[in-house]
Parts: sequence; C-alpha cells; structure tokens
Amino acid sequence: MSQAATPEGQADAPRTERHLSARAASQAITAELLERVSTQLEHLSTRLQQGESAELLAFMRFSARFHSYSLNNQLLIWTQAPASQYVAGFRNWLASGRSVKKGAKAVRILAPLTVKDPDAARTTEGKQPQKLVGFRYVSVFADYDTEGEPLPTQGFMTVPGGDEGHRALIDDLSSAVPVPVRWEDAPHTALVVNGRPWGRHSSAHGWTDGQQIVLNTARCAGQPAHALRVFFHEWAHAELHFTDNGQRPEDLPSRAVRELEADGAAYVLCAAYGIDATAQTADYVTAWGGHAEALQTSLKRIAKTVSRVQERIQAQQTARSAAD
Ligand SMILES: [Zn+2]
Repeated sequence: MSQAATPEGQADAPRTERHLSARAASQAITAELLERVSTQLEHLSTRLQQGESAELLAFMRFSARFHSYSLNNQLLIWTQAPASQYVAGFRNWLASGRSVKKGAKAVRILAPLTVKDPDAARTTEGKQPQKLVGFRYVSVFADYDTEGEPLPTQGFMTVPGGDEGHRALIDDLSSAVPVPVRWEDAPHTALVVNGRPWGRHSSAHGWTDGQQIVLNTARCAGQPAHALRVFFHEWAHAELHFTDNGQRPEDLPSRAVRELEADGAAYVLCAAYGIDATAQTADYVTAWGGHAEALQTSLKRIAKTVSRVQERIQAQQTARSAAD
C-alpha cells in the first residue's frame, strides 16, 4: 500500500520503529507533565515561604471544581486552563452533546498505567489486583473550547440567602456526614478521647472526637458563613484524622498539620458553595512555606477529603431525588 509521507516523515519507517518513536514521544510528554507538577509545587511552596499565599489559595478555590481529579491533574488543568469550569475527553464531550471546536488546545493530564499485580492475592471476585507502574498522558478539552448542548449546571446547591440560609444548609448537609452533627449551647469542657482529656473546648467553635461533630452555638450563631467553615473543618477532621471507630489512624500527622489540613479542606469546600474564606485562611497556610513535599502530602490528603465529602453530598442528593 502506498502512503503519503506524514509531516513527521515517518510513513515509510517500519511499523515497530514508528510505534517505538511514538512511545518515546509519549513518554517524553508524560515526563514533562510530571516535571511540571513538581515545579508548580516548588513554586507554590517558595511563594508561601515569602509570605505569599494568594496563589495557593487561588489554586485551592479552583480545585473545588475538579474534586474528582487527582492533585497532579488539578495542578495540570490549573496551569493549562485556569478559566475552565469542566474538562473532558473528545469522546466524552461528544457523548454529552457537545463537540470540541476546531483549533482547540488540548489540556494534557495524566492517567495511571496499571498492570496485573502477580504478587497480590486475587480478590473475592477472583480478579487479579492491579498495580500502578507509571503514567501516560491523555488529552482533555476545556468547556470553553466546546460547543453544542448547554453545559450542565455545577452539581452543588447554592447557599440560600441570609443567615438562615447557611444554618439551613448546615442542617441539610448534616445528613450526609457519617457521624451525628449537633449544636450545643454550653461549651463542652470535659471531653475524653481514647481515655485522655481532649483539648480546651470552652473556646472551641466546634469539635469532633471522630464519633460526632459538635458546633458551638454561642460561637457560630450569628456568623453563618463562619459556621459553615467550622462545620466543614470538623467534618474534614472526622474523615482524615480518625478511623471509622473513632480511633486515631497510624499515619496521624502532627497537631499543627492536622489543623492545616482540616482548614485547607474547609476552605476548598466553602469555595464549592461560593463562600470565600481567604481572610481566615491566608496567614495559616503560609506554614507550609519552604516544604514542597509536606505541601504536596497535605494537598493530596486535602484533595482526597474534599472528594470524599463531595461524594457523600452527591450520594445524599441522589438518594433524595430518587425518593421524590
Ligand atoms: Zn481543628
């Protein structure tokens, strides 16, 4: 079969050679994307060290829209398409009634490369577990580079107006939390966790022992946006820093890191509801400055927690609309 030469001039090369050079090119792009992620984390960490938290907070607000993506991919989408609301692959856009515009610029993100793990025991369904061996890149496109059917609305409730609205939202979301949530008028002073006295609760705005979340009415009432942030903060603690039976997990970070993580998750979750808690969070997050690795570890844990919380909220909404 005769074939016109491709612009790369590879048409006449033997198939395996072409295959290999395509693979090498793909590997080079993947390596470049991974490099870009670590450069970005280094950069954010250096900025924090200089006392500049605005960029990290902008990224965290952005990440609220992409909670189902890994931290790596959130960073890659942010650096390539900071104005995007959604991204999806070419075929997925088509399936949802939109097509990618001519000349659209692909946003490159990473997909895990897995193989069957011969060392792992088969699952109860008889499947051989997979293990991660690396990454490959995939191309997605931003919403503004597509046209067709109207875009879906963001899957989250907007906060109803006024103080009452925030309180109503907290009460509503409480049913999605895996532990009971209650309001308490008198601050709790004698909480015992794992047999030890726990914290100074007279001044706490909220607290959790992993088995319940308590919001301090005196501290939270009258400041509903603040109350929502406290609610998400305690929810994040319950997800991240306790096991299902209220014990502490083995990989428990230091108290300072726990507070950063809970606050970071609350910040992103508030952003998902259109509440900007920058003023309360800005000074706090500079503590990550100069520690790119610690920043990455915590951002990964925050992204996972935000994703878990949003999945629980979505499951609650789906169950509710099914019942209607
Ligand atoms: Zn806390």
